[in-house]
Amino acid sequence: MKNIENFFDDRNRAWCVHCTEALINVETNRDHVPSKCLLPRPLPDNTPVIEVCKRCNESFSEDEEYLAAVLAVVMSGSLDPDELRFPDWATILKKNARLRRELKRATIPEQPDLFGPPPRFTLHPDVDKIRRVVLKNARGHAFFEYGEPMMTEPSVCTFAPLEALDPDSRARFESASNVGEIAAWPEVGSRMMTRVITGIDLVGGWVVVAPDWYRYTVDQVGGLRVRTVIQEYLATEVVWSE
Ligand SMILES: [Zn+2]
Repeated sequence: MKNIENFFDDRNRAWCVHCTEALINVETNRDHVPSKCLLPRPLPDNTPVIEVCKRCNESFSEDEEYLAAVLAVVMSGSLDPDELRFPDWATILKKNARLRRELKRATIPEQPDLFGPPPRFTLHPDVDKIRRVVLKNARGHAFFEYGEPMMTEPSVCTFAPLEALDPDSRARFESASNVGEIAAWPEVGSRMMTRVITGIDLVGGWVVVAPDWYRYTVDQVGGLRVRTVIQEYLATEVVWSE
């Protein structure tokens, strides 16, 4: 990714966007948005980072690893770390027996066909854990792109596999048609405005952090809305209504 300077109001950088603690009072960390474990290694150049309190930063890791493991399992169709398509995520699962047990408990095997392939399974993950990661990254993207600390609870925080969306929902989700309409233009001085004007890291209105790994877009339609696509598999949407 290219480095884009921000010109937004520095006063907004005084608080942790997650817990609203004044950063001057606490130890702070640089937090990658999106979560590092959702990106390939080496990390893309200029992966966005924001400053948050150390306690929040550290509190996310377990849920972030949980999401990575869930994605590896469902996208590989196996609970066996040796069969996972994603080496880094397989390592997370290999090292963590508790997580392996937790995911095993969350799966329901499908009925095998008499002579068919071995049964597949359906995974019912802990949605609260995934939601926390989705919200964490949405707050990070909103702050990085717009300089807006979205410290309240959002009105919408959802996620679903892209392939589970019906064609209309999918088209609406993917659409960046509002970007470019004057009413929906990002604020002057925001990184998103610079992207819209220059096209930096933008493909079809989406900021591509790493192709096939992670893309996101932030707009101000009906409030502030952050959408992401992880591994071209999981679609997420977070909205703070006006
Ligand atoms: Zn915090």
